Order: sequence, then C-alpha cells, then structure tokens
Amino acid sequence: MDTQDMKTAELVKKYNFRFTKSLGQNFLIDETVTEDIVLGAEVTEEDLVIEIGPGVGTLTTQLLKKAKRVVAIELDSTLISILQTEIGDNQKLMLIHNDALKVDFNEIIGEEKSVKLVANLPYYVTTPIVVKLLKEGYKFKSLTIMIQKEVAERMNADPGSKTYGALSLLVQYYCNTSIVRAVPPESFIPRPKVDSIVIRLDRLEEPKVQLDNEKLFFDIIRSSFNMRRKTLWNGLKSIGLDKENLQLAFDNAGIDPKRRGETLSIQEFGKLSNKVNELF
Ligand code: SAM
Repeated sequence: MDTQDMKTAELVKKYNFRFTKSLGQNFLIDETVTEDIVLGAEVTEEDLVIEIGPGVGTLTTQLLKKAKRVVAIELDSTLISILQTEIGDNQKLMLIHNDALKVDFNEIIGEEKSVKLVANLPYYVTTPIVVKLLKEGYKFKSLTIMIQKEVAERMNADPGSKTYGALSLLVQYYCNTSIVRAVPPESFIPRPKVDSIVIRLDRLEEPKVQLDNEKLFFDIIRSSFNMRRKTLWNGLKSIGLDKENLQLAFDNAGIDPKRRGETLSIQEFGKLSNKVNELF
C-alpha cells in the first residue's frame, strides 16, 4: 500500500464514513491514477481548477499543489465537513456545498482566464454534467474527467464504429478528445462494477462545424440515431420537411438517404442540417 492508499482509506476509517451508492461514491486509492489525472490535465500555476465531487479530497490535495486555486463542488454534507476539517484552511481552496447540476459555473469562473475542470465524476450523472458543461458555453480550456469506460469510448468514437452516436457528436462538436488512461475497479474503494477511463476534452475556440441552426443539427442527430438500424431517410421522415424537400436536402448535401446515421461524419451532419434548414 502506498501513501495515497493509506490516506484515503485512513480518512474513511477516521470519520467512519459510510458510502452512499446512489451518489456514485467510489474513492480513488491508487496514487498513480491521481498523478496521471493531474499530469493529463496539465495543471499549471495559472489555472483555476474546478473539481466536481472531491470526496475526501484525494484528488483535491494533488490539484492544490499545482493550481493557482481550486474550487471543489460536493453534494454530500458529511464530506463537506470532512474536507473543511482536513484541508479547509488551505487559502487556495474554496468548497461549495451544492449539486453540480445546479451550479452556475460563470459565478465561479468570473474573470479567470485559464480554467480547467478536473474530476472523478459520479457515474450516475456523467452525461448530464458533461452536457451542461459543454452546452452552457462556459470558458473551460479543458475537462479532464474519469468516467465509465463505455461512456468515454462513446465520447471518443469515430464514424462507423459501434460506439459512435449522439454523445460522440455532441462532445466532438465542442471539443477534441483524447484518452489519458484506463483505470481498473481495484483502484477504488468500494470497487465499482465497471471499468473506468480518464478522458480529456479540449474545448475548441469555435465549434467543429459552422451551423445555421444548432438546435436543428442536434434534432437531426437525435432522430438519426433513435433506431440505429434505420436509414437516414426513415429517421428523418418526421423532421418536418415533406418528402420532396427532404429528398432535395439530401441531394443538395450530396448524402445518400439510404445510409445509416452511424456512417456520417460531423461535417456531413453539419452540411445536411444546413441544407434541411434552407428548405424550412
Ligand atoms: N474525487 C474523489 C475521488 O476521486 O476519490 C471522489 C469521487 S466519487 C466517484 C464522486 C463524488 O461526487 C462523491 O464524493 C459524491 O458525493 C460526489 N457527488 C455525487 N453527486 C454529485 C453532484 N450531483 N454534485 C456534486 N458532487 C456530487
């Protein structure tokens, strides 16, 4: 057992902490993983780091060594008390007791120029949190997050692969994605039933494709993947164009309506969406 192993387990024991499964409480006990998360995020003295779900502060302590400031948002009041006692006197740390889904991140970010989100996310809310962080347009340079392996693979998937879908397109519209490392269940207490991956999402200055109607783009993507075996034509019949105009939109975009959604690149979805928008 190395120092970090002992520290996390010790704190759990010291405070007789009872894990709440429904809050996705699996704490890291493998020091190499916390190191790789901080290294993967490339945290520097310029950075405000926002952490979601600090737990007993395993990752937080490492982030505080590298960052200008750390703001940690935790929902569990028991953990907030533990964190206050253990690391609350660190001037660089601000603790927020709240649900990350209810936080206005602009209030935290303020005028800060270099903001990075780093977190071992609670898996039950990974997708809503990531969707919120991306869609609400906060000025994060990057998100380095540990999430369930399958979700990370969907975020990182290329067209044509089995895992490519609406989540891949949403994430890749806003970010470049890269895998930092895989993490086995043994790296946590208690052990989760799933494997994990640390993924980094680097936010692009401009979204990957230029769109005339962003909402329509995401509506088209959702309809195209609703039933994976359907052709684009079947998926998009209900998008709101009559048959002639839908055929025209496909012709104008140069896309065969017999193709399936999973074969289209983000650029092709962008083109199709702009051509459908012209005919509305
Ligand atoms: N960062 C710690 C670590 O790596 O050991 C703990 C990570 S644990 C996977 C997820 C943490 O998120 C828990 O501390 C849990 O209480 C907290 N959490 C769960 N739901 C939350 C929410 N909606 N908002 C903020 N924190 C949440």
